[in-house]
Amino acid sequence: MAARPDSTSSMSTRAITKNQFDVAADLIDLEDHMRRIFLMPFRTVAVEVPVRMDDGDIDVFRGYRIQHNGARGPCKGGIRFHPEADEQEVLGLATTMTWKTALLDIPFGGAKGGVQINPRNLSMREYEAVTRAFTSRIAIVLGPYRDIPAPDMGTNAQVMAWILDEFSKRRGYTPAMVTGKPISLGGSQGREEATGRGVMYTMQEYANDFGVPLKDGTVVIQGFGNVGGHLARLLQEQGAKVLAVSDVDGGIYNPKGLAIPELFQHAYVDRNPVQEFDGGDHITNTELWSVGCDWLVPAALGGAINRETNADKVKCRVVVEAANSPVTPIADKILEERGISVLPDFLVNAGGVVVSYFEWVQNLQQHPWSLDQVNRELLNRMTRVYRDVRDIVKEREVSWRTAAYMISLARVAEAERLRGHQ
Ligand code: NAD
Repeated sequence: MAARPDSTSSMSTRAITKNQFDVAADLIDLEDHMRRIFLMPFRTVAVEVPVRMDDGDIDVFRGYRIQHNGARGPCKGGIRFHPEADEQEVLGLATTMTWKTALLDIPFGGAKGGVQINPRNLSMREYEAVTRAFTSRIAIVLGPYRDIPAPDMGTNAQVMAWILDEFSKRRGYTPAMVTGKPISLGGSQGREEATGRGVMYTMQEYANDFGVPLKDGTVVIQGFGNVGGHLARLLQEQGAKVLAVSDVDGGIYNPKGLAIPELFQHAYVDRNPVQEFDGGDHITNTELWSVGCDWLVPAALGGAINRETNADKVKCRVVVEAANSPVTPIADKILEERGISVLPDFLVNAGGVVVSYFEWVQNLQQHPWSLDQVNRELLNRMTRVYRDVRDIVKEREVSWRTAAYMISLARVAEAERLRGHQ
């Protein structure tokens, strides 16, 4: 397996991650036993996923559903199909979901699922068969008041439709057991662009508070998928200049700003590589990090900004963590020392889970909302939470990540205390 960023110092990475948690835990006087509860998942389900492939052979894949914490409500989190979706990665993502749902104050806990598989190597029939086999093996821990999956890397609305169908065969039609569904099966208006829209709302608030311009401000984005593509489009509508973007095959750069509506059609809608777009110079994914800008937005992979390759090279005023865990703990420290603010993932990219929550509410009430209502409620919630975190940053003179942790830890700990332990 390829070495993960900062892996040469994995002990110190672990130590710094624990340190980020401990700094916040100390600031709110969190009890020792609570810290131990949060270090472990509530439940780990590891399953075999046997599938008859198109060549007639049966392959067996490894799948996980990990419920980190359910004190504040049913567990909530995506399902990822990716070769590196092992138990450690899924646990890390499940833990982040606990802090994200608590920070946004939505009545969910945190979970994540993963199947160690590359969906690009599957035919459509195999893709459906993997989804159904995995769903049938974890169905016992799912349900609208137990654990509610959603899309993540390698899965999409179609996969959610298969999950709904497989679950409903056993338990009757239950649309609220999964979110990110197609709209015709009970999905929500605005869910597809919700994460990018939420990132944009947070940047607008930060721009107003700290004078980093959004209108005429410059932006660089790694990743032009669901999050990066929609974000670029929305920022451009606000008057921002998107100087460079990249996808897995490389990037493009235009110092005058890229023509985002055309690029969105070319790369996001028509699914062509960004480098095949006429309207910018080719740059590599490594060169992307050195493009000077106001806002640098990693919106692709975990560990993208790390000590080994780029933490000392980025030239921006703010790093916006649109992806999950794109800044390694050591890089986070380096950026802090360089005076670059990092807006943390569980604040910035929460728009997706917020609209997933709206979808769940609409399904339970059997009453769909308009797009206007979804966007208005998303704006209200993202703005309110941003301001709560900002106030702690100012009052306690801590980083944005520490401030966000303080709110989340206090909320989950209070729920744990009230429920009681024998
Ligand atoms: P996606 O699959 O739609 O898009 C990913 C993009 O990243 C693609 O453009 C891909 O080409 C690019 N990419 C992949 N590997 C790359 C590499 N090595 N270098 C540069 N670019 C690369 O995924 P997404 O839904 O946009 O998710 C992106 C990130 O945001 C992930 O970390 C995901 O966990 C996180 N996230 C997504 C949502 C959501 O609602 N989609 C919500 C919260 C967090």
